Amino acid sequence: MTQDVTNSDLQTGKPNGILPALDSVDWPVFEAGWVWMVGGGPGDPGLLTLHALNALQQADIIIYDALVDKALLSWAKPDAVIEYAGKRGGKPSPKQRDISLRLIELAQAGKRVLRLKGGDPFVFGRGGEEAQTLVQAGIKLRIIPGISAGIGGLAYAGIPVTHRDVNQSVTFLSGHDRTGLMPSALDWDALSKGSQVIVMYMAIKHMPDICEKLIAAGRDPHEPVAVVNNATRDDMQVLETTLVKAHEDITRSGIGAPAIVCIGRVALMRQCLDWMGQMQGVPPRNLDPLDVRSESETG
Ligand code: SAH
Repeated sequence: MTQDVTNSDLQTGKPNGILPALDSVDWPVFEAGWVWMVGGGPGDPGLLTLHALNALQQADIIIYDALVDKALLSWAKPDAVIEYAGKRGGKPSPKQRDISLRLIELAQAGKRVLRLKGGDPFVFGRGGEEAQTLVQAGIKLRIIPGISAGIGGLAYAGIPVTHRDVNQSVTFLSGHDRTGLMPSALDWDALSKGSQVIVMYMAIKHMPDICEKLIAAGRDPHEPVAVVNNATRDDMQVLETTLVKAHEDITRSGIGAPAIVCIGRVALMRQCLDWMGQMQGVPPRNLDPLDVRSESETG
């Protein structure tokens, strides 16, 4: 069922009836002067939460980041102002402080301000910093989590971020620190020993160093690695490689940012669970990539 968002309720600033009824409470009303910080998910617009849709349908102004899918913006109310605040590696971008000040200024002017961020706002998205500045300025705030690329993006590549046969823990890692360099505070020995599966954001640039450090710290050079570019989008690309070959394969394939890098044997599960490939008629390559589970075993 499709419904046009030019529903008359949109003008009232109230939730517009496209959303299903909630049991005991109504959908939150976006009050004037508030900032709602919303996760837009990794790309596929269908991965947006209903709270996020509710927010989009009420906001007066939407300030969005580079990795937000533009299709989401078309779900805003017709007269909403749409403003770009993106940051892209290497390109000039507004300073974090300027973005926060803009949010404060708009909220103080009585706008319903939707801060739309890619994935989840509190996962490597500087959402915490922005939210803190807002609270310090006395601005009322609501946070709407989103599906993070390191979980949902991997799922679209057929990689379960945890899998009982492989890992009981996951480490999420940022491939660079606030200066753009490789994170200096990381203890590579501890990471190498203690992290069963490592999921890395913003890691493409420093992959050679990262792989080298992990191998030097004792990680198996032949450990499976998957690189998922533009995850959940129509142009998603997935590279399957290993720690020792990752740099060379990334360079040769030309796969670039934005990408999620998954290091660990869970990456092998794609051989069985590449459901997107399967939808296009590609049969599973291996029904038991980890060689542990017979087809009939369900326990
Ligand atoms: N808050 C976001 C992450 C922001 S940091 C989230 O929770 O997903 C930006 C990094 O996220 C990118 O450099 C990339 O590593 C990752 N990323 C975001 N969207 C992605 C996508 N569709 N495909 C692959 N990686 C993505």
